[in-house]
Amino acid sequence: MNELTRHFSTIFDNNFDELRSINEFIYNNPELGHQEFKACSILIDSLKKHGFEVTKNFCNIPTAFMGRYKSGNSGPTIAILAEYDALPGIGHGCGHNAFATTSIAAAIIIKDMMKDINGELLIIGTPAEETSGAKVEMANLGVFNNVDIAMAAHPTGEMHERSGHSQAMEALQFTFKGKTAHAAGNPYEGINALDGVILLFNSVNALRQQTYETARIHGIISNGGKAANIIPDLAVANFYVRANSLEYLKELVTKVKNCAKGAAIATGTQLVIENYETSFADLITNKELSNLYEKNLRSLGVTDIRDSKPSGSTDMGDVSHCCPTIHPYFPLCTSHLTGHSVEFANATIQPEAYKGIKEAAIAMALTAFDIYTDKNTLNKIKEEFNDNIKS
Ligand SMILES: [Zn+2]
Ligand SMILES: [Zn+2]
Repeated sequence: MNELTRHFSTIFDNNFDELRSINEFIYNNPELGHQEFKACSILIDSLKKHGFEVTKNFCNIPTAFMGRYKSGNSGPTIAILAEYDALPGIGHGCGHNAFATTSIAAAIIIKDMMKDINGELLIIGTPAEETSGAKVEMANLGVFNNVDIAMAAHPTGEMHERSGHSQAMEALQFTFKGKTAHAAGNPYEGINALDGVILLFNSVNALRQQTYETARIHGIISNGGKAANIIPDLAVANFYVRANSLEYLKELVTKVKNCAKGAAIATGTQLVIENYETSFADLITNKELSNLYEKNLRSLGVTDIRDSKPSGSTDMGDVSHCCPTIHPYFPLCTSHLTGHSVEFANATIQPEAYKGIKEAAIAMALTAFDIYTDKNTLNKIKEEFNDNIKS
């Protein structure tokens, strides 16, 4: 361990009580997307205490924030992103309390070393990752266009995982409208909206044979009628459609919409198609940046680093289309954890969780140091980003 790493480790240890209380406070006060007022407030207080200039209500999103620290003359701008939304029923089953704690820890460590550095550090609080994904709106507003690199580390079980790939996703709602009638007495006078939904599911199931293996189309019937003796005049299905690229997602969404249109024609129903949540772009990991993070993680003595398994979609994808981005995973424990579970939530506040939190925070800080001080490395990262965006 070199002197810089030892120094970073000391800063983490000196701030440990505060970091643990942030982690436990957010765990004990789980808030759903766009309701994360308590989490937002404790994170802002901490950043202010550590000398960051903080913008509340960032991008006009009430539970978003941006902490900023600028040092010396102009230099690279690095953004660390923090998530802190919970899940209904299972609290922090995705571990976003530990996510936010790691981001704050990294920000405190980086800021401390910036005295002799030219550059800017942003720590951006991004609400509602589990639902409407505030990063999408921020990306659309150009927040990441002048950022040189963006990083965020997510908790998991077992071991560190490299930043990988996430799927582009669109959330589609299909509303079929028909006409009620007595289901036994005069069904021939009704128009069955539920049949529209059922045909949609059957058509999508037929479509699956002609999609790439990586495609995911999954849905529920959120309204299937009121009573078995009434022909339903309204039936609604919610779907997520996912693909490995935005281009293929577009193609797939058209096909799924056509399944619904066919179902509406076949049943004589009226069809309305809407997006019921924000769509996410695919995550493009910047390999150069990811390798740099991995080198720094290994310098801390971490040896077991694996590729991350594909795991749905994240709004970090949209960030990765604006600037070089990584989204690695760090372990909360040495055993396997199922995402979105109570066991996962419990693991975030156990003493052993802080080992992974500390490793990820220091690896991000060392990566920031490399970016601020080594122009060549940043140039290579940017070259890769430009090549990816062009292709
Ligand atoms: Zn999640
Ligand atoms: Zn998550």
